[in-house]
Amino acid sequence: MKVLKFGGTSVASPENIHKVKSIIQSSGEATQAVIVSAFGGITDTLLETTKLASEQNLEYKTSLDEIEKRHIDTIKVLIPVKKQSAVLSKVKSDLNTLETLLEGSYLIGEVTPKLSDKIVGYGELLSAFIISEFFISEGLNACFKDSRELIVTDESFGNGKVDFQTTNDNCKTYANQNKVNITILPGFISSSKDGNSTTLGRGGSDYSAAIFASALNADVLEIWTDVSGMYTANPKMVKQAKCISHLSYEEAMELSHFGAKVLYPPTIQPVLDKEIPIVIKNTFSPEDAGTHVSKNTNGSLKTVRGISHVGNISLISLEGPGLIGIPGISKRFFETLSLESISVVLITQASSEHSICVGISNDDVDRAQTALEDTFAYEMQNHRIKPLQIERDLAIVALVGENMKSHQGLSGQMFSTLGKNNVNIRAIAQGASERNISAVIGKKDVKKALNSLHETFFEENIKQLNLFVMGVGNVGAKFIEQIRSQSSYLREELKLNVRVIGMSNSRTMYFNEDGIDLEDWPNDLSKGETANLDTFFERVKQLNFRNSVFVDNTASSEIAQTYSDYLKNSIAVVTCNKIACSSEYNYYQQLKQLAKKYNAPFLFETNVGAGLPIIDTLKHLIVSGDKIHKIQAVLSGSLNFVFNTFDNSTTFHDVVKQAQEEGYTEPDPTIDLSGIDVMRKILILVRESGRQLDIDAIENNGFLPQESLETDSNDAFFESLKKYENDFQELFAEAESNGCKLKYVAQFEDGKASVGLQQIPKGHDFYNLEGSDNIVLFFTERYPNQPLIIKGAGAGADVTASGIFADIIRIGNF
Ligand code: ADP
Ligand code: ASP
Ligand code: MG
Repeated sequence: MKVLKFGGTSVASPENIHKVKSIIQSSGEATQAVIVSAFGGITDTLLETTKLASEQNLEYKTSLDEIEKRHIDTIKVLIPVKKQSAVLSKVKSDLNTLETLLEGSYLIGEVTPKLSDKIVGYGELLSAFIISEFFISEGLNACFKDSRELIVTDESFGNGKVDFQTTNDNCKTYANQNKVNITILPGFISSSKDGNSTTLGRGGSDYSAAIFASALNADVLEIWTDVSGMYTANPKMVKQAKCISHLSYEEAMELSHFGAKVLYPPTIQPVLDKEIPIVIKNTFSPEDAGTHVSKNTNGSLKTVRGISHVGNISLISLEGPGLIGIPGISKRFFETLSLESISVVLITQASSEHSICVGISNDDVDRAQTALEDTFAYEMQNHRIKPLQIERDLAIVALVGENMKSHQGLSGQMFSTLGKNNVNIRAIAQGASERNISAVIGKKDVKKALNSLHETFFEENIKQLNLFVMGVGNVGAKFIEQIRSQSSYLREELKLNVRVIGMSNSRTMYFNEDGIDLEDWPNDLSKGETANLDTFFERVKQLNFRNSVFVDNTASSEIAQTYSDYLKNSIAVVTCNKIACSSEYNYYQQLKQLAKKYNAPFLFETNVGAGLPIIDTLKHLIVSGDKIHKIQAVLSGSLNFVFNTFDNSTTFHDVVKQAQEEGYTEPDPTIDLSGIDVMRKILILVRESGRQLDIDAIENNGFLPQESLETDSNDAFFESLKKYENDFQELFAEAESNGCKLKYVAQFEDGKASVGLQQIPKGHDFYNLEGSDNIVLFFTERYPNQPLIIKGAGAGADVTASGIFADIIRIGNF
């Protein structure tokens, strides 16, 4: 025979109950015990209604009306009209009793655990009765049986302890007498020897089903729910979670103990003794194989089988010299909690005997505190034991797996994953069974922790990167386009899943936690909320995604000032904005230190030479012990374009205009033409080669007339260029007569840096530099005479975007 249990969602609507019927009909087993939960949500509503009544809040009546309506409506849909009245009259009579009980609570202004159990049990009673009547009306050989006549518990209301002897006898007697094929039983409820209604704890219908399965020696216990089995993590928290096909009883128990709600933890014990297999299946996708829980796990080699979490945890610790070497303290500690019926979810003990620390539910912490202070009052008065330390609003995340005990290094991997993602660990514990490693963390970090651990242990190295993109103009838009067009390559070849979660321009910003649709982002962004840098940062922080990266595609100094906030929250920063690295040395230095301290990469390859790997190469030289003697470079793609295009057949004004229109200049072209942009670049190279330098120490031998430099708008600037056309033509003619080309050169030697226009003779490495190309010569200890040369396209939105992209990939491999 078979025992099947259908949870709240599976019986939440008439449509779902039809699905339940098909599953039972196609099960092919003659005798079946079918345990059902209350209609989805009803248990919660019953508890809320009771609370309202006990607080003498008349709103309870509205709530009760809803409960009534839900059941009556279901009957009207499921049961044929001519059979409805008998069913309706029984259900209405139950609802009247329920109303009387609630009224009693309302009048007295209180609810006892005993009354609460009686009230809350109506959810299952009504659902089982209605479902059985529906089955009968459909011609199934079915009947209803009140579980309270079978399962007997003590009077721990809300969490009855089962008397297995009596319960098993009752079940056997019932089975022997029963002639009906399908018995529908309400889950969750039971009764005490004195006939009072009790319940088996929240989620207890699973347990009811296991008790019946064991008493009746079922061949299998099927738990039908709203997911296709037990997953590697709660699929509602971790999208990538996968169904686990086989689990041992112990693993399933451990996962459910640590919060895999799909199976109520006590469920395993009754069936484990008799080795009855449990199959967890999905009512809404019955063809899925589901999870099989049995003695054998089919020899799975995977060490970590699942990751789960328990929310609402508090840590309570007892500390003090009085704990050292005195036997019996632990016993008194745990006895106190046990007498208060407080269950300990996790125990950690510091390596010294100096403290005992346990994780318990937030709901129990006040009671625990009072009781423990009472127990240790004497020691606390004498300062042998310190006042209790209590930390609330925590959660436990746990790795679970049978084979973990024989593998070294799993905890290291677990903690480094959490550390990299800035998840602060408050306590750790490894169960004596070594079937779990658990860590206590802040509640706000749970989703990030689960997802990053899942990535580490289950996703075959697919790493998700979550980008927050500031600036989607020229460069930003190209960058987003590159991510869009490369996404399948990134996933398949580089095992990177790059998602853009947030973006902003100067007007609006837009977030989508599931990843912004990169085909249609301009539309989404235009409808986004008003842009604000602080709100943007707060949102990124609050989303708290693993592997978060802030990407700055702007040239704004205000935005550059926010990098430290991101880094301090372990959010990587990738930027093509040069301001942060070329402003005060202290800020540059601080950002580098924050990046190290918070394990968050700070990358700015595009600050020099756009997409060319200049900074990266320099970094490699330095870390491999090389020393930079001299740098000579043409670092302005814009100026190079200008001086390569400018001759006596063009005007300087038109050439600069063209450079601007083709995206080779900064939005404000004076930044390029004044040489400031080149000064910033050489400054960054000098700093990256390990020297301290500030921008005012760089000599600038500029060529622009003062008047042009001092213009206050782009239009005025271009006007002034026209005025000085002759001077520019002279510069050109002079160089040409010397057989030279004009190049704007940056130099660093003997601790001094300078920039300026130079006449470059034929044969020089710089002479043939084309278009907007850049070139850098590094003279180093290893390359003393023949420099290391990097040369190529050094400006333009496309190459800059691909440089940012390369930085993102570097983070992916980090
Ligand atoms: P039912 O009402 O059918 O008893 P529950 O809500 O009690 O269903 O349990 C099913 C839910 O358990 C799923 O919807 C899922 O959100 C949650 N859950 C938590 N951890 C896991 C896990 N590791 N695998 C599957 N489901 C999980
Ligand atoms: N209906 C009860 C609850 O919601 C029992 C169950 O569904 O397992 O806790
Ligand atoms: Mg459940």
